[in-house]
Amino acid sequence: KYKQVISVKGTDEIAQLGNSIQILGEQLQYFENSRNEFLADVSHELRTPLTYIKGYSDILAKGKVSNKVDQENYLNIINKEASRLTFLVNDLFEMSKIEVGKFELNKEITMINELIEKVVSNLIPAARKKGLDIKADYQADLPEISVDLERMEQVFYNLIENAIKYTINGQITIRSYLKSDFVIIEIQDSGIGIPSEELPKIWERFYRVDQSRTRKTGGTGLGLYVVKQIIESHHGNIIGSSTENEGSTFTIFLKL
Ligand code: ADP
Repeated sequence: KYKQVISVKGTDEIAQLGNSIQILGEQLQYFENSRNEFLADVSHELRTPLTYIKGYSDILAKGKVSNKVDQENYLNIINKEASRLTFLVNDLFEMSKIEVGKFELNKEITMINELIEKVVSNLIPAARKKGLDIKADYQADLPEISVDLERMEQVFYNLIENAIKYTINGQITIRSYLKSDFVIIEIQDSGIGIPSEELPKIWERFYRVDQSRTRKTGGTGLGLYVVKQIIESHHGNIIGSSTENEGSTFTIFLKL
């Protein structure tokens, strides 16, 4: 009788082990698939700005554009696409630093509104191209805070770029204000929104809500992962809230 109990238990355990191995296999397959998708997304994201840069610089180099205004337009496009590449490469670089545990901050005292404004002016052409309005509502007398400037610029770039990317028409509003010990920054859009069951997953590396809807808009699934890591390494917090087809709001809390 004793032996039988053992053997039944043994069979159960083997069955459980079998299940676990199957689940593990499925997870590995999932990671493998998302890694392949990620590589395809990154290649696509790298190629698009490079195509513009190559195309417009070729035209300029051949001396075919004599009109000063056109020349300036082309140079602006090259410049904008080059900064898009820089932010993308920064995301990749940050990810690898996070993975190997070599993520160190380089903090400086700063006026956060100025930093946000720098990013906004960089992204205004992209917003205008989609007919979107960016409204800024900054508290003027915010105290200075200590942040890693490059990292925080990356945070605002990723969030505002997402707001533009995932909004078809409407408005983006950026607010900054002080509440007790916190500087709070909100980036709100009136875009496609995120289904509530997907909301907890958007912070995962490579995660993209519905690959088919995001393929057209471009992206890598890295942006929010990097954003969260940067904010948390500043001992801050970020939350996302969203209603499908109405819009999303990302709120950053930075302690004074
Ligand atoms: P991606 O490069 O795909 O934009 P992110 O990590 O920045 O990657 O975002 C993850 C996913 O979260 C996106 O693919 C998108 O589906 C969703 N998302 C992020 N920001 C927004 C937003 N403002 N509105 C709607 N969906 C968003």
